[in-house]
Amino acid sequence: MLICPNCKSEYQEGYAICNDCECELIEKPEVDEEDMTVKKDSKISQFIGKLLIFGVVFVIGFIILMSSINLGDHEMSNIMKAHGGSMDTNTYLIYLEQSIIKYRILGSILSLLGGIGILTTTNSKS
Ligand SMILES: [Zn+2]
Repeated sequence: MLICPNCKSEYQEGYAICNDCECELIEKPEVDEEDMTVKKDSKISQFIGKLLIFGVVFVIGFIILMSSINLGDHEMSNIMKAHGGSMDTNTYLIYLEQSIIKYRILGSILSLLGGIGILTTTNSKS
């Protein structure tokens, strides 16, 4: 379908110039309503997908943050095994603190990333 850019009259293929205003006809841009809804739908599902991913990252980060002591404890039992099953209390505490801090940082970063992601996704929608 051809269209006059001036008066918006529609012409069949084969015409080149508008009868009324002698404008050169252009190809009518295809605005398929169905296409629009599909695009909108995919945008919404993209939005939900992003939100889900960031939400999961946030939750994982939060869980790691909350269970950093347990995770540190768990890692310590592995470190203990590596050290032959026994360890100086001070050394143990230093290792424990280090691994707890490590999990706390990891959890903070993940929940921060997830939180920022959620915020930017919800802000960019409007
Ligand atoms: Zn025209």
